[in-house]
Amino acid sequence: MRVRTLAMVLLAGGLALSACGKEGTPTDSGQAAPSQSVAADVSVDGSPTFDAIKARGKVVIGVKEDQPGLGYKDPTTNKYSGFDVEVAKLVAAQLGYGEDKIEYKAIPSAGREQAIINGDVDYYVGTYTINDGRKEKISFAGPYFVAGQDLLVKADNTDITGPETLKGKNVCSATGSTPIKRVKDQGLTDKITEFQNYSQCVAKLDEGAVDAVTTDDAILKGYAAAEEGKYKVVGKTFSEEPYGIGLPKDDKALRDKVNDVLQASLDDGTWQKIYDATLGKSGSPATKPTIDRY
Ligand code: GLU
Repeated sequence: MRVRTLAMVLLAGGLALSACGKEGTPTDSGQAAPSQSVAADVSVDGSPTFDAIKARGKVVIGVKEDQPGLGYKDPTTNKYSGFDVEVAKLVAAQLGYGEDKIEYKAIPSAGREQAIINGDVDYYVGTYTINDGRKEKISFAGPYFVAGQDLLVKADNTDITGPETLKGKNVCSATGSTPIKRVKDQGLTDKITEFQNYSQCVAKLDEGAVDAVTTDDAILKGYAAAEEGKYKVVGKTFSEEPYGIGLPKDDKALRDKVNDVLQASLDDGTWQKIYDATLGKSGSPATKPTIDRY
């Protein structure tokens, strides 16, 4: 039953997004995720990561696969879609690698730093909050979006209206994420259910085994949009989650290059088009971030 529910969540997400997530496909509102033109003769002097990509002839990108609207793998087509995936493709294209030269690796929140440190991925794009603790191990380009922690509850729930109402409630989130840390650090509740992936939390919410799922509003809005009428996002954010592209710590050359790519996309309208075709459809606000070249 649990597996079936999860499959339904994922399938519904795929259906809701199937009209918009694929490159060049018209969306409900007539927009299409822009096709990325692939840059030629790119060099990123002094970047060991870029050298490894070149030697391999393809880019390996860490992503999420169960977050509709952000990083989502359609179980029927195995295609990835969403805002994060489009950002990942944009960066790859500007490094000289088209879609056919991308390998995606789905890595959950708790595994991100180690995957980057090990060189299992060249870079990671998946609702990855920039913070000082993580910066000790890896580096970040961006931010390319700013989300905030929020709560997902059943549509008919009336008693959970914000973080201060969670006492005694069973709250679910993902291991290794900033939202679960905040719930623990702030003692918002002592009943915490923890999984690798947020879709597992949503399945538990569906079963009535937990009262709320907590993570970034952008992620929760994707689940709510995927199954219309079933859940609601409380809508009172209680943190700032600036999303960065995770990179090997000492690869400053690549970080500068990726920041240039993000800045150009903010300036030339590409960021807006990507947003409109993905996150904009589940109702996240389109506030352009300011790149932080720390
Ligand atoms: N943005 C938060 C984080 O990086 C939550 C989302 C996630 O787990 O990917 O921890």
